[in-house]
Amino acid sequence: MEKLVIIGSGPSAYTAAIYAGRALLSPLLIAGNLLGGQVTMTADIENYPGFPQGIGGTQLMQLMLEQAERFGARVQMDEVDSVDFRRHPFILNASSGPIETQAVIIATGTTPRRLGVPGEQEFVGRGVSFCATCDGFFYRDKTVMVVGGGNAAVVEADYLTRFAGEVYLVHRREQLRAEPIMQQRVLANPKVKPIWNSVVTEVVGQDAVTGARLRNVRTDEETVQPVAGIFVYIGTDANTGFLQGQVKLDRGGYITADRHGRTSVPGVFAAGDVQDPLMHQVATAVGSGAAAGMEVERFLAELSVRSYEEIARESRPGPVEPGAPVG
Ligand SMILES: Cc1cc2nc3c(=O)[nH]c(=O)nc-3n(C[C@H](O)[C@H](O)[C@H](O)COP(=O)(O)OP(=O)(O)OC[C@H]3O[C@@H](n4cnc5c(N)ncnc54)[C@H](O)[C@@H]3O)c2cc1C
Repeated sequence: MEKLVIIGSGPSAYTAAIYAGRALLSPLLIAGNLLGGQVTMTADIENYPGFPQGIGGTQLMQLMLEQAERFGARVQMDEVDSVDFRRHPFILNASSGPIETQAVIIATGTTPRRLGVPGEQEFVGRGVSFCATCDGFFYRDKTVMVVGGGNAAVVEADYLTRFAGEVYLVHRREQLRAEPIMQQRVLANPKVKPIWNSVVTEVVGQDAVTGARLRNVRTDEETVQPVAGIFVYIGTDANTGFLQGQVKLDRGGYITADRHGRTSVPGVFAAGDVQDPLMHQVATAVGSGAAAGMEVERFLAELSVRSYEEIARESRPGPVEPGAPVG
């Protein structure tokens, strides 16, 4: 039986593992299909403290992993398909078989949202992409499109200009949502051409993408913009599908947790983007990972002197809302 299983291998999972490892809990991480998490999908991280010149996303995650392993964390390349939190010890049904554990930290992050238009699914890997770092190289001197107006969209549009001849930035409003410094940079880039007030209604192509059908939301006018690649950055959904009915989620599907990472089930903690519908950043993910890593230690110390039933009976019914004072 495991003392602690951390589900995920992004920055919140690695940070929780560093804290739990230093508390001699020998945490087991179930990595999921994206080792290192979403940070590995971007080239450079410029806003994570300690790296004045920025740091490569994959490099940052490799450093965090080394640090976690140094304190005894173990990584299993596996996925959790379902859980049973109605009994204790908890059961996690991983692809390779069930795992029994006394405590869990859920750090499964989010998944990029799809456009949901005809042609999108058909052309994934043949012109439709959710990862500029992974696929940008294939579009040398070509014309591509980025869909979205938040931080990820503008950063990746700027990044794609390293390869592409032209980058159309399609946004459904007339103003970007991204941080001002990022907006300034992308809009000053001569290769970036914004297309405002527009949405993609169809991905057009034969063997590969040749264009995107756009609808102007103000005029309803439809046009087909010829492009070789479409990069989609229109938001994310929490990876909580495997938790249905086991732990309290908010209406958007994010885990409801307090600032210590405590969820509605004593002994089950949450960290990172999966419990934060607003701030999807490495720095905030790391902070909540540290909190959950420390809180789980407290829970396990209590479990060594009292039964789970006793702890559960005395714990408050459900977590307080995120950000509310605790204790
Ligand atoms: C293109 C892009 C650019 C970005 N740029 C920046 C930036 O410049 N600065 C910044 O601060 N942030 C940036 N971010 C956001 C940042 O990457 C995230 O906020 C951060 O990675 C969240 O960390 P996390 O640990 O919560 O989850 P994630 O990094 O999303 O990791 C989730 C982990 O859970 C695993 N997982 C999921 N489901 C399961 C399952 N069922 N079983 C087992 N494992 C599972 C996955 O394999 C993954 O390892 C960017 C994101 C993207 C997509």
